[in-house]
Amino acid sequence: MAKLLSGTWVRDQLFEELRPRVEELRRRSRPPGLAVILAGSNPASQIYVRNKVKACQELGIVSETHTPPDSVSTEELLALIETLNRREEIDGILVQMPLPPQVEAARLLMAVAPEKDVDGFHPLNMGYLVTGRPGPRACTPAGILEMLRRYEIPIQGRRAVVLGRSDIVGKPMALLLMHEHATVTICHSRTRNLAEEARRADILVAAMGRPALVTGEFIQPGAVVIDVGINRITDREEAIRIFGADSERMQAFDRTGSALVGDVHPVEVAEKASAYTPVPGGVGPLTIAMLMANTVEAAERRLKACSG
Ligand code: NAD
Repeated sequence: MAKLLSGTWVRDQLFEELRPRVEELRRRSRPPGLAVILAGSNPASQIYVRNKVKACQELGIVSETHTPPDSVSTEELLALIETLNRREEIDGILVQMPLPPQVEAARLLMAVAPEKDVDGFHPLNMGYLVTGRPGPRACTPAGILEMLRRYEIPIQGRRAVVLGRSDIVGKPMALLLMHEHATVTICHSRTRNLAEEARRADILVAAMGRPALVTGEFIQPGAVVIDVGINRITDREEAIRIFGADSERMQAFDRTGSALVGDVHPVEVAEKASAYTPVPGGVGPLTIAMLMANTVEAAERRLKACSG
């Protein structure tokens, strides 16, 4: 029986470790401060931001959310970022993606001061990651690494396959695994024989945004499978393919007309993997926990820079 890797278990540990650090910062100067920019009215983004703000409240991190309208321009957002860069009590700036189509996302990510870039998306911080220097790491892959460590899943010398090459997940994930001495393969939309590549993995990370694409034939028996995908499905036939006609999750689908699924087939992974992350409750909670960790670390670095 495959083991379930719980993101909430890891998140709770991370939160407990962050609490005294937040307290220490508060005692020595002030609590950490996070500014979130939520441009426009994307419903999924609104939920993500709400969860991030809630996590800040739980930990005593001060947060503020800026909500410019869908029509906001790149220049207006650049001006907002400039103000936040200058504000002493803001340690972290997060620009929630996706941005409205007229906004030039790359220019915004460049504009965030690298030391306040708690998402680790600034090219300077990406460069630090490539070269193995310290700096904020992209939250989702960093969270996955924490999970592998805390479940004592060995990485060194093992074959890791990452499905997806985005700047946010796939690329940084592959680099982090490589720094941990895995032998890493990156696959993407133009990879031939995806299932065959995936089947070589001792550690398989799926980050494509394709509902349950990773079926049993992608999984080497005994592999560890990390499912990053978050996909909302509304098609009943697809739901039956994924959950099975008589399952509890199918009943839930019929009640609500939709369901959240990962990139990995939830039934087939349980049959073949030695351990895997569920959706929901796997990678999702880790991303927010690492955002909190990056914010606390940014505040600590700033305090050290001021007092040293
Ligand atoms: P993206 O769209 O930027 O990148 C997807 C990548 O997958 C691309 O590199 C593409 O080449 C590859 N890909 C797409 N279809 C493929 C196919 N059929 N075969 C092989 N490769 C394919 O997405 P992203 O931002 O990296 O996110 C990926 C998924 O992870 C999404 O479902 C997203 O919602 C989810 N996500 C979850 C969290 C979390 O906290 N759990 C965080 C970030 C992203």
